[in-house]
Amino acid sequence: MGTKQGSDFCYHCNEQVLTQQETPNHILHLLLTILVCGLWLPVWVVICACVKPARCSTCGLALATPTNWVLGVLVAIVCAVGALLIVASIIGSLG
Ligand SMILES: [Zn+2]
Repeated sequence: MGTKQGSDFCYHCNEQVLTQQETPNHILHLLLTILVCGLWLPVWVVICACVKPARCSTCGLALATPTNWVLGVLVAIVCAVGALLIVASIIGSLG
């Protein structure tokens, strides 16, 4: 897990605040997905779906944006499919 910092409007503090969000290590999951020929992809998708929303660094309020996990899942799927296509083309060119 990494920590992503950003900025968002907090309705509790009533101002623009710094936010912190724990995010999956997409590089690590991409490597695992390639290593096991895509079998890790469902795990990666579940981990993306379980990502907690960004939190206000001042009051700790969860600043939920429902598209956050959808975006993570899409990133995971696109990366995995792209990586598998590259691996498949390398294997195809060797044989
Ligand atoms: Zn706040």
